[in-house]
Amino acid sequence: PQEPTGSLLDGLDPDQRAAAATVDGPLLIVAGPGTGKTRTLTHRLAHLVAEHGVDPEHCLAITFTRRACEELRERLAGLVPEQAPRITVQTFHGLGLNILRERPDRAGLGRTFAVADDAQRLAVLRDLVSDEREARRCLETVSQAKRIRAARFAAAAAGESAAEDGFTPEMVDLLERYTKTLHGRNLVDFDDLVALPVTLLAEHADLREHYRDRFRRICVDEYQDVDELQYRLLRLLTPAGGHLCAIGDPDQAIYRFRGADVGFFLRFRRDFPTAREVQLTRNYRSSKVIVAAAVAAVAPSTLVPDRELHAMRALPAAERVGLHAAADQDAEARFVVDTIEELLGGSSFHSRDSGRVTSDGFEHGLSFDDIAVLYRTDAQARPIAEALSREGLPFQKRSHNRIADHAGVQTVLRHLTGSAADEPLPLAVRRAAQRAIDELDGDLFASSDNRVYAEQLGAIREAVDLLTPLATAHADDPRGFHGELTLGAEVDTWDPRADRISLLTLHAAKGLEFPVVFLVGCAEGLLPLRWPGAHLRSTVDDLAAEEAEERRLFFVGISRARSHLYLSHPLRRTRAGQTSEVRPSSFLSALGDDLIERLNRPGASRSRSRTQQLRLL
Ligand code: ATP
Ligand code: MG
Repeated sequence: PQEPTGSLLDGLDPDQRAAAATVDGPLLIVAGPGTGKTRTLTHRLAHLVAEHGVDPEHCLAITFTRRACEELRERLAGLVPEQAPRITVQTFHGLGLNILRERPDRAGLGRTFAVADDAQRLAVLRDLVSDEREARRCLETVSQAKRIRAARFAAAAAGESAAEDGFTPEMVDLLERYTKTLHGRNLVDFDDLVALPVTLLAEHADLREHYRDRFRRICVDEYQDVDELQYRLLRLLTPAGGHLCAIGDPDQAIYRFRGADVGFFLRFRRDFPTAREVQLTRNYRSSKVIVAAAVAAVAPSTLVPDRELHAMRALPAAERVGLHAAADQDAEARFVVDTIEELLGGSSFHSRDSGRVTSDGFEHGLSFDDIAVLYRTDAQARPIAEALSREGLPFQKRSHNRIADHAGVQTVLRHLTGSAADEPLPLAVRRAAQRAIDELDGDLFASSDNRVYAEQLGAIREAVDLLTPLATAHADDPRGFHGELTLGAEVDTWDPRADRISLLTLHAAKGLEFPVVFLVGCAEGLLPLRWPGAHLRSTVDDLAAEEAEERRLFFVGISRARSHLYLSHPLRRTRAGQTSEVRPSSFLSALGDDLIERLNRPGASRSRSRTQQLRLL
């Protein structure tokens, strides 16, 4: 039995409350990092179902990662335990899969269709094009063509003039044959999960009406990162003047490389002329210095020039942002580890429990899960992970790779297909791994390279670790297992509840927050990242857009920090055996000296006062 509580809007500030209490019609919430956008979204939904009598079945919340979905579901369950399980919380792909599972016949699919992985897609393409290399190249082009074609089809069906897709007749022909073969094998690909529902809803008014009636209330978090196809799906699901709530921050748009376009956020007001708009300006996450650093960092390319962002957390001794220049990436990693040990009070072995209250009076000591190390590309994690391992500091790494694309997973899955359907999945996975190892042992006679063998064996073992939790969760449901495998876009071994230091790419850190953040690799070429030869392939406009996006990533990184932020950069970098000097990131120059404290003395620890300030966390 629950105590009667106040309104679900009680925990919100006046602006957040205004946003959450706007229950009808289109609504745009534009706000900077840490202003409680995600919190407002959850309270708004809870308020709708608990205090406005909205049927939870009519509610749909969309966000970008499955992890973010889980968190939303959890938060909703905390607020409205009765109704929460009946609210649909999905990624775009998850939603699309739901629609296709409900209506496979409308898409010309069998009831038992599965989601193809890249190996299965490649098998289809191999039959359609001349050689292996061409088939591999087509994996990406076909995928892109499919998304664009479906989006343009929907735009045309809605009577909007959209740009020509510009595909050659050969490309269109290949796409059609590829899709037909795929569907003929009772498979869909990842792109189909959104492209098919978009095409179906654009084509069939009855389906459109059905889903508009079903999802009368839609909330989308991180709306700045929708791509054209996702945008089309939302438009199809929302009648004119419908209850679509879009939440986001244009300055945190970081998925341009995947086809996301912040333009869709910016045209919301045009798409929904009756939309109400609410801005949130209070940042509840970060210290004053960190808020100021974030705002300064993004200012040169901000898409929200009149942005207001006020720091609400009163930290008595606001510490400046630490900036460290390290000799190379290993030295940078040592700086991170040394500082972490210092923060943790010199001991390598703090657990969450011992960390909170310590003998020397830490009232709110740090634990491992309070700390994150962020970087631009996955490869940068390596020196950090090695340095942490050497010190015995527990960490977990989150990367953006799909489980299904992991080399070992592909091997194991190849041996899993055709396995007895009545066998429990976890067992089937172990058997498949064993068969993969047997095959590897057999190959050993053909190859004498032990290193390759060890690597492949390691990959298979990793695959078992990755697949087992999923297999256990879907013990009797191979279809669900395969579906989720393809959907579970990331190898997400990252567990928000684990008491470990987090190693995250800037992309993976989106939406999260940590008391202590290290942002490593603030160097030209790393952040902003420059791919070799990019200046040859890209137009000047493209390069400028890329640079702006890199800067937004810098902004996202800085704004993850609650109390302590450390920026660092290596002065030398070794690539392919070549060592070269690298300049500090040009982005750093946006941060004035009033915000920065240089921590350049190698090995020197910070002043006592600085360590003492930690107790004020
Ligand atoms: P991002 O842009 O990074 O996704 P966000 O705008 O979604 O950020 P939230 O993650 O919802 O922000 O909130 C940031 C932090 O501020 C969270 O710790 C949240 O609990 C806290 N917070 C939000 N609103 C309030 C409030 N009204 N009172 C106290 N704390 C709040
Ligand atoms: Mg958020």
